[in-house]
Amino acid sequence: MSKIQVLSEHLTNMIAAGEVVERPAGIVKECVENSIDAGAKVIEVEAFQGGIEKLIITDDGSGMDPVDAKMAFMRHATSKIHSQEELFNIHTMGFRGEALPSIASVAHVDLETNDGNTGTHIEYDYGKLVREESCSCPLGTSITISGLFLKTPARFKHLKSISYEFSIIADLINKMALSHPEIRFKLSHEGRLVFQTSGNGNLQEILYQMYGREVAKEAISFEGKNDDFLISGYAVQPKFNRATKYFMFITMNSRLIRSIPIQKAILDAYSSYLPSQRFPIVVLDIKADAQLVDVNVHPNKWEIRLSKQNELLELIKTTIRSALANALQTVKIQPKPKQQHFVQQEIKFPIPVQETPKPKKVDHVIDQGFSSYTPPKQTTSSIQEEVISYPSYHKIEAEKEEENHGYEFFHHLRVIGQLKESYILCENNEGLVIIDQHAAQERYHYEQLIDALNKPVRDFQPLMVPIQLHVQPAILAQLDTINEKIQPFGLSFEAFGNDSLLVRQIPLWFQDVHQEDFFMDLLDYFMQNRKVDMEALRKHVIATMACHSSIRFHRALSHQEMVQVILDLQKCKQPYHCPHGRPTVITFSDKDLRKEFERG
Ligand code: ADP
Ligand code: MG
Repeated sequence: MSKIQVLSEHLTNMIAAGEVVERPAGIVKECVENSIDAGAKVIEVEAFQGGIEKLIITDDGSGMDPVDAKMAFMRHATSKIHSQEELFNIHTMGFRGEALPSIASVAHVDLETNDGNTGTHIEYDYGKLVREESCSCPLGTSITISGLFLKTPARFKHLKSISYEFSIIADLINKMALSHPEIRFKLSHEGRLVFQTSGNGNLQEILYQMYGREVAKEAISFEGKNDDFLISGYAVQPKFNRATKYFMFITMNSRLIRSIPIQKAILDAYSSYLPSQRFPIVVLDIKADAQLVDVNVHPNKWEIRLSKQNELLELIKTTIRSALANALQTVKIQPKPKQQHFVQQEIKFPIPVQETPKPKKVDHVIDQGFSSYTPPKQTTSSIQEEVISYPSYHKIEAEKEEENHGYEFFHHLRVIGQLKESYILCENNEGLVIIDQHAAQERYHYEQLIDALNKPVRDFQPLMVPIQLHVQPAILAQLDTINEKIQPFGLSFEAFGNDSLLVRQIPLWFQDVHQEDFFMDLLDYFMQNRKVDMEALRKHVIATMACHSSIRFHRALSHQEMVQVILDLQKCKQPYHCPHGRPTVITFSDKDLRKEFERG
């Protein structure tokens, strides 16, 4: 007996639903795209219980007449393309004609629509048409989706917490607003308004809503074109960088897309302004002839295929790079006050050496409080001018060192002086030892931190002025989860209004950190990683702390402070490398020096 059968329409719709509407945010995306295609100027999204219980999407678009309203739920029914030619020349968000039937197969759907002549109400219940009647409703369309996946337990099971599901919706609406600044968006959860835009077409204003005043105010606008593409948008100042790639928003003909090569082109443009593993905030809109763009690559339409991609990447790179160069240049060439000019020149002179009487040579100097050893001036300056430029030093390999080796090594150092407010010059029996003071302090700080995070936090410092952070609604929606996770580190956030968080006290271990930057990174981390386990979070906190430590590179240190840096380093388990893997100490042996001075 033959076994092959054609799937019923209901089953096909349910299969499609798996690709198109995995979760509430997927439904929101499809419905909002339909509203955009219908020419809406105002789109309102109301979510209840993360959209799992109910979603209402209302627009003031063109609406549908009674025949179309019914047709809209037929599979492959679309008003948007009619021919093969049109498939390769798409100007609308939708075109596959499968969103509404898919949604209606896995939920209860109420559609009210008015095309300006007739109001129509259509009701579907898990794939079955249950009502079709005329009604009175305003021009436009309102679609209510409730009880999502209640009859498909396997799909229901994949839904996550209410706060998580809402956070993805919020994130999506943020992006939708960025890709359509001319549309007014409103988003609410449990009846509370969480995000809204004015629809006046001003992208900077939306950046302001999302990231606050500082970020938006200094954002650099850019525009560029070649024969095939026109690009425009905002590049946020590199100082407001982020820990994830999540903040490069790319739209192609106003459609939100994901593209790794385009992200990379943006990163290239920023490369000389950002440390590695840091990412910029950018809004980039690309206008291209629709025939160059194949949007029919995936049912959810996030990915695209593009002709002439290399030309586009080059355009993006050069446009953003020169926008940044121009904007950041103006800061550099501002005339400096005379005072500063002198200071700069002074740095070129031989390092100032403390004029203390030359002490006897001592071996266990640390015990004696590091009496300073002052070599003749001439020698000092030649060390500075000559040796630094020679590459013939050897790094001490931390990996080979045993724990505690540091004690012996650092114990025998004698401080000579400081170089360029950045390096501590020392002497030991082997020769000249140079310590990178910044790297050294980072290492010490890092190990202290690991220690602190292994114990429950007991010591707090209340802040006179609480730290206020401007955050996206998606963060507020997850606040309880986030607080629960960071509580063991002695951190907590308090919601403040619709778009901010407050931090009222900090644990003691947290003092030497650029606190706002650290918090923004931590929140990005929660946005990026939906599931955060304790161990991963601990590692992340430690790594982030290391790069936001507030120890400055250039700082004049007193003799006592230099001694302290060495004493601290001596206590470290891994004293020879900073947390980023750069050496903290290099040594020029007597032998090296003799060779360089050609003394044989
Ligand atoms: P597609 O968007 O791919 O055409 P959908 O299943 O999303 O397929 O929608 C089917 C059709 O229903 C659309 O082509 C459009 O004509 C109509 N439609 C859906 N939503 C709306 C809306 N909010 N306003 C007006 N028409 C709509
Ligand atoms: Mg659609």
